[in-house]
Parts: sequence; structure tokens; C-alpha cells
Amino acid sequence: MTEMNEPIAFIDLAAQQRAIRGRLDAAIGRVLDHGKYIMGPEVAELERQLADYTAVKHVVSCSNGTDALALPLMAWEIGTGDAVLCPSFTFAATAEIVPWVGASPVFVDVDERTYNIDPDHLQRTIEHLRDNSDLTPRAIIAVDLFGQPADYERIEAIAAKHDLLLLEDAAQGFGGRLNNRAAGSFGDAATTSFFPAKPIGGYGDGGAIFTDDDDLAERLRSLRVHGKGSDKYDNIRIGRNARLDTLQAAILLEKLAIFDDELQARQAVAGRYAAGLNGKVAVPDVMAGALSSWAQYTIRVADRDRFAAALRNEGVPTAVYYGKPLHLQTAYRDYPLGPGGLPVTERIAGEVISLPMHPYLDEATQARIIDAVLAAL
Ligand SMILES: *Cc1c(COP(=O)(O)O)cnc(C)c1O
Repeated sequence: MTEMNEPIAFIDLAAQQRAIRGRLDAAIGRVLDHGKYIMGPEVAELERQLADYTAVKHVVSCSNGTDALALPLMAWEIGTGDAVLCPSFTFAATAEIVPWVGASPVFVDVDERTYNIDPDHLQRTIEHLRDNSDLTPRAIIAVDLFGQPADYERIEAIAAKHDLLLLEDAAQGFGGRLNNRAAGSFGDAATTSFFPAKPIGGYGDGGAIFTDDDDLAERLRSLRVHGKGSDKYDNIRIGRNARLDTLQAAILLEKLAIFDDELQARQAVAGRYAAGLNGKVAVPDVMAGALSSWAQYTIRVADRDRFAAALRNEGVPTAVYYGKPLHLQTAYRDYPLGPGGLPVTERIAGEVISLPMHPYLDEATQARIIDAVLAAL
């Protein structure tokens, strides 16, 4: 519990560490004892447990959530002249890896209730590209923004209809579910990030790729170690160095052990926000059949700067994800947009603001946040 004017944490990683510090120290100690810092036994164990957790056949851990997105594009040999459709209302990594392989991102608008890629606009963008562009649509990257799975029932059907590959960016979505399938199990492959502030984070960079495709998994395992064949001195393709450290895997195993309890605590926090704020401000809308991992609790307000300042005065931190969508960023402004542009993205980017959200947010502190939000509105 926090005192009246004590600052509140936006994401309280220290509280989580206090809960499992002994187990973390022991896990780190075991790695220091065996000394297998690269691809040690904890890496394989983490991959096995993540495969279990998501009910996916193969998990390939890697260096970070950005490389996790890039490796499948490399494995699928997506390149020059190809288009990869993705939202603009997301973190830069989602689109950044597309030019890495020489292809072009094509930005699609989002649904204003879920903030995830709009299947109708996706469909129209594919048709528009087929008729009006030299680019060949090859893949879709859908993002589970703020923790909620995208509308995969419709997106998987669109991908199948147009013979496109589908990559799920579950960097924020790990732990979420849709119709009893786990985030990480949608599309031809899915990815996540273990950046410290994500729903499941390590103490450094890390990521993972999930797939049921045996051949893809084998290529990913090769690509993450310099395109190795029988070993890293046998190079059968151009790869990268994109491995997950053993130390991070050891830490992540301890975080995974408490992840379901944390996920439940996040649901309780989201429930209390909804009870306190619903009807007073635009609270997140979770689709029927969906469970959010609540990477963020994002509301929408008209006068955002004034609202954020009022909360700051009460010791309540907020954050804006994403105030400037990718298609308006300097680096991305020359890439194509779906037909009619991205009006929803542009409108909500000016209104979204995220409140403190983490599993250790106690009721009294949260009541203080809710009071401050209501007063600031
Ligand atoms: C964080 C994030 C990534 C990238 O993950 P890193 O581990 O930071 O490279 C990709 N996509 C989304 C949606 C993210 O939030």
C-alpha cells in the first residue's frame, strides 16, 4: 500500500522481484555453476515449457521480440517486391523488420474498439494491392495490442483466402486467449518479446517464435545461429546471431512459474478499473471469447495533455502508446497505406493514454488512481 502522496509505479517490477528474489538468485546461481552461458539447458527447458503453455509444437527462443519477427520473414524468403500488411498503430518493431528483408510494409487501419488490425480494411487493402500495385502481397502481421488478441477468426480466414502467410506479433499479447486458443498459437507463426516490461519479461532482451510447422522451426533454428547446417561452422544460409542467453532463460523460467497467478491478478486489476471507470471514460473493450493479458490498460480522453498533468500532480504516472503512428513517422512516411488512409489510427493516436497496470497493484493504490482519473475528467 502507498501513502497518500507517495509516487505510484506504472509497472512495478520491484514488487515482483521481492516475491521471487530467492528463486531468481538460485536460478542465476545454477547457471554460474554449470557455466553453459550460450544455449545452456535452461534455454531448451524454457522452449519446452513455452510450447506446453501455448499448445504449440515448436518454440524457438531468440535475442529479442524484434528479431523474433524478422526471422520468420527471412525463413519465408520474403524480399524485394513483396508487401507485408500490418497496422500502423503499434510499436515500430512490427513494421521495421519488413524493410530489413527488402520488402515493403503496407499499413492497415485498426478497429476503434480493440485497437487491433481491422479485418475489413485488411481485406480491402489486399484487393487494392492486387489491382493497383506492383507489390506482391505475401504476409500479414497482426498485433495483439495492449494484450488483447487480434480478431484471428477473421484474419486467418482472410489469410487463407488470399494465400498469405500470417504472423502473430504477441509481444504484448502473451498470456491472452481467444476462443480457448492461446496467444502465440495463431497464424503460421507467432512471436513474443521478453523485454522487462512485457507481460512476461526477463532482466534484459529476449524473444521467442512459436510454430506448428516442422520445416519452418528447423529453418528458424538455423537462422538464429548464422544459418548453421550441422553446426555453426557449416553455413547453409545467411543467418544472424539471434540466440537467447541462458541467464535470461533461467530468469524467465522462474517468471513463467508465477505467470498464471500474475495473469489472474491482472484480470482483477482490470476488473476494478472497469468497475470504477466504465460509463465515465472510454475503457478497453475486450471481444467476446477473448482474454487480454493486460500488457497495458489504455483509456481514451479528449484533452490528453491536461489529463496527464492532472494525474501527475496526484502522483499517478501515465504513458502514451502510441502518440505518433508509424505511417506518420519520418522513417515510414513513404510506405503505402490501405485505401482511404488510416482515419481511425490517426484519431485514436491523439486520445489514448495508459494507466498503471501490473499484477501487484493493490486495491487501495488503485482506488487512489481511479479517484484521480475521475477528478481529472
Ligand atoms: C516490444 C514489442 C516488440 C519488440 O520487442 P523487443 O523485444 O523490444 O525487440 C515488437 N512488437 C510489439 C507490438 C512490441 O510491443
